[in-house]
Amino acid sequence: MSRARALGIDIGGSRLRAALVDPSGTILARTETITNASAGPETVIAQVVDLVTTVASPADRSALAGAGVACPGPLDTATGRALGIPTLSGFADFPLAARLEAALGLPVALENDGIAAAIGEWQFGAGRGLDNIVYITVSTGIGGGIIADGKPLRGRMGMAGHVGHMTIMRDGEACPCGSHGCWEAYASGTAFTRRIRSVAPDALPATIFAAAREGYTAAQALVAEEADWLGIGITNLLHLYSPQCVVIGGGISNGFALLEPGIRARIQRNAMAAFRDIPIVVAGLGENAGLVGAASLVQ
Ligand SMILES: [Zn+2]
Repeated sequence: MSRARALGIDIGGSRLRAALVDPSGTILARTETITNASAGPETVIAQVVDLVTTVASPADRSALAGAGVACPGPLDTATGRALGIPTLSGFADFPLAARLEAALGLPVALENDGIAAAIGEWQFGAGRGLDNIVYITVSTGIGGGIIADGKPLRGRMGMAGHVGHMTIMRDGEACPCGSHGCWEAYASGTAFTRRIRSVAPDALPATIFAAAREGYTAAQALVAEEADWLGIGITNLLHLYSPQCVVIGGGISNGFALLEPGIRARIQRNAMAAFRDIPIVVAGLGENAGLVGAASLVQ
C-alpha cells in the first residue's frame, strides 16, 4: 500500500504547497511557502524541491508512485510544457514536467490547477460518487474544471475549463488575461474587492461578509451584486455541462451561505427550467483539492 503513496504539488502564483498523500486521499504530511513568482522557473523548482524534502526524505521518495503537479494555466499537459503563465514570470514555453522529473527523481504528471482541484473534489470531496460535476474556484481569479461522463474533461492540450475567461460583457472590465468582459473580471475576489473599495476604501470581502451577517444593508447590497455575477456564470456552466452538482471553492466560498440566495435567484431567472434545481455546494477539501487531485494522477 505504501508504494502507492504519492506527492501532490500545487504551484500557485502566490502560494506553493506540497503534500504526501495516501491512496485514500488522506494528507500524511503537508507544507507550504510563498512562491518566489518573479524569480523564474529554476528558482521555483528549487523551492519545490525544498518543500518536498520536508514531506518526504530522499530515502522515502524512492518508494513513492510519483508526483502530481497542479499549476495555473495555460499548460500543455500532453507535452508537459508551461505555455505562458500570467502569474509566474518566465514560465513561457518551459518544459516544466521534464525539469521537475529531473529535480525530484520521480515520474511527474502535470495538470492545470482547476482540473486537478476538480479531480480532488470528485474523488475525495464534495463531488464524490457523481459522474458529472462542475468545480469552480473563486479567489484572486476564477478557475475551474469539469468532470463529464465520469472522467475529467481535458480538451485540446489539456486546457479545458478556463471558465473565468468566458465573456459575459461586450468590451467590459479589463481582465488579467488581456481581454475585456470576462466572468473573472466581474465575479472574482479581485472584482468583488474593487466594488467594495469604491464605497469602503479599506474593506475586504471578509469584512463585508461579516457586516452583511450583522444586517448592514450596504454590505448586503455588495454581497447581492457579487452573488448575481456568480449566478450569471454558473447559469452558463449549467447549460453547457449539465452537471449533477456545482462545487465552489476558493476564498470567496467562505461567504457561500450569504451568496447562495442571490446565486439561486439569478439561476431561477436565467436558466431553463430543467437546469434550475441543481445543488450548489461548498468544496469539501478547501485549499487541498488541487494537492489531492494532482497526487491521484500518479496513484
Ligand atoms: Zn480573462
